[in-house]
Amino acid sequence: MADVTPGTSRSSEPVTKGNLPLSCVNCYLSYKDFSLHYSGHYEHLIQFSQDHNLLRKQAFCPHCGKECRLDLQKKAFRCNRSYAPRQKQKRRRNYYLSLFKGTWFSGSLMDVETVLFFTYIYVSDFFNYRVVRTELGLSDVAINDWSSYCREVTVHWCIRQKQQIGGPGTTVEIDEAKFGKRKYNVGRVIEGQWVFGGVCRQTRQFFVVPVDNRSSATLLAVIKDYIVPGTTIVSDCWRAYDCLKDEGCVHLTVNHSMNFVDPVTGAHTNTIERKWRELCETTPRYGRRRYNFVGYLAVTYFKIHFDDPKTRLHAFVKAAAEFTPPSPPC
Ligand SMILES: [Zn+2]
Ligand SMILES: [Zn+2]
Repeated sequence: MADVTPGTSRSSEPVTKGNLPLSCVNCYLSYKDFSLHYSGHYEHLIQFSQDHNLLRKQAFCPHCGKECRLDLQKKAFRCNRSYAPRQKQKRRRNYYLSLFKGTWFSGSLMDVETVLFFTYIYVSDFFNYRVVRTELGLSDVAINDWSSYCREVTVHWCIRQKQQIGGPGTTVEIDEAKFGKRKYNVGRVIEGQWVFGGVCRQTRQFFVVPVDNRSSATLLAVIKDYIVPGTTIVSDCWRAYDCLKDEGCVHLTVNHSMNFVDPVTGAHTNTIERKWRELCETTPRYGRRRYNFVGYLAVTYFKIHFDDPKTRLHAFVKAAAEFTPPSPPC
């Protein structure tokens, strides 16, 4: 376990009022490390949250303008300095700002420890309701609420992640798949969500986008957004790609020069098929409401992206802090 002490790798950026950099640049924690270091250590939990911008690191007193002290017992920033308003006699006024007000933790009935432990478990490979009920003593309603909140964070992360993959000399495999309800009767209309994705064979970068349909226009838009011009694109033989080939190239030659490789000629789509299999296996199939689908997909994508579970908590709380940064005190 080298250089893994949480919160110890600090950026050298200066700390400025109102714009605090993320203190922890990377932490690498097994569940055991996390439990040993944080379970029952309130000040460590607060420090962890501050290092990842989930909680504010400092607050300034609106009366005297000076920095407040953090009162861990009261869970608040406080100031009770004397000050002299407009040259009059010195007065003492108390200022109190809850540590959690306007942060990721506000609105939760769970304490910091439970929230962070829940989060660790949620992004781990061993998350399920039974584990959380047993380990953290949470009700199914609470688990459901926080799961849905965590899904939102990963959706947000996915959207921010949006990056083009591929490039000249590389090959991107693309495919579309339908997730959701199982096909009970052949010939019936299947309900579910279409997703479109691609994997770069050389760099292993990958994207997944939920789409409304599989029309050429939709797929073309995704390709333009997510795949670098000049990339060799490999796909299956679905007819939409033929359309892209016929119609698309006319439009694509301006911005995109693509080669659609016929799979028969030896091009294979093993990489993407493996990704789809991973997604299918890890995306819950039952009891899932349709509007949650993108969330589940995002969680799966997040976990695949951060393949090593020890890196996930850091990545997740960083995304959570970007999604819900502590709001400025009013
Ligand atoms: Zn970290
Ligand atoms: Zn003050």
